[in-house]
Amino acid sequence: MSEIARKILDGDVRALARAATWVEDGRPEAEGLLQELFPRTGHALTIGVTGPPGAGKSTLCDQLIAALRAEGKTVAVIAVDPSSPYSGGAILGDRIRMQRHHDDPGVFIRSMATRGWLGGLVRTAAEIIMLLDAAGRDVVIVETVGVGQGEVDIAKLADVTLVVLAPGMGDDVQTIKAGIMEIAQVFIINKADQPGADRLKIQIQSSLDLAHGPKPEIVETVALEGKGITEAIAAVRRYQASAADPDRSAKIWATRLREMLRDRLLDRYPAEDFLTAGRDVAEHRRDPYSILHDWLKSKN
Ligand code: GDP
Repeated sequence: MSEIARKILDGDVRALARAATWVEDGRPEAEGLLQELFPRTGHALTIGVTGPPGAGKSTLCDQLIAALRAEGKTVAVIAVDPSSPYSGGAILGDRIRMQRHHDDPGVFIRSMATRGWLGGLVRTAAEIIMLLDAAGRDVVIVETVGVGQGEVDIAKLADVTLVVLAPGMGDDVQTIKAGIMEIAQVFIINKADQPGADRLKIQIQSSLDLAHGPKPEIVETVALEGKGITEAIAAVRRYQASAADPDRSAKIWATRLREMLRDRLLDRYPAEDFLTAGRDVAEHRRDPYSILHDWLKSKN
């Protein structure tokens, strides 16, 4: 076993952080390491936390961390912003709240800056989850900022996805993208101390009445005061215990493999190739299909 793999398995946080950087930077060493660590994965509970900006996700995550730590669980948080290309720094800034856990080796927090295109982000998140799982983290929280397709894709990596909504934000259920409502396995109505929480709950319930399948639980929280946190964790565990789909883990891996293959293929073609080919097509020198045929032939 490589030294870095051994250190990660021993709980060395600096080695873990270094490996996460390898994954993010697409360094070739990352693959061998993940291969080595793979047999040690499969134990962590992965919780996705998503919802519109300002709903209280990072406040909630901070409270989830505290509650899980009080149970003696080790925790990792990956904060991802798929929607903004400028998010790297902003995420770090916004996540100061969670920094109170900074000195606790039982809490590992990683902000992932977006890397150009989404497939890469999903693949990177999947690989960092593997790393953290192998490193023995009991719970891995994947927090995404926003309500776009990126959140939907990343949510597919998690065992349980929490959708966090809050009253009085102009994000009534109708205006929230259908996709984000559908990925919720547990709804969190945060800021339950604010007017409108009851109305929001009724709206969510009536939108669920229209949907098929098992109804997600709805949990009210006041993250700012730590209220409803144990109930939220209990709902996560109930979902996990009852998860109707025995093929869920296979489906999560199917998603990851798809992303890994997509990345792998795209990595073979430098961005300039795309632009050159794009010009050829735009100016009608070539048709797109002959270009694709040539690429697929030449790189096999
Ligand atoms: P995020 O953008 O979804 O991560 O939201 P934040 O966690 O940054 O919270 C946005 C704002 O809402 C902050 O000013 C929080 O202090 C506040 N906030 C978070 N939870 C609650 C809550 O339960 N009640 C109230 N009244 N405010 C909250």
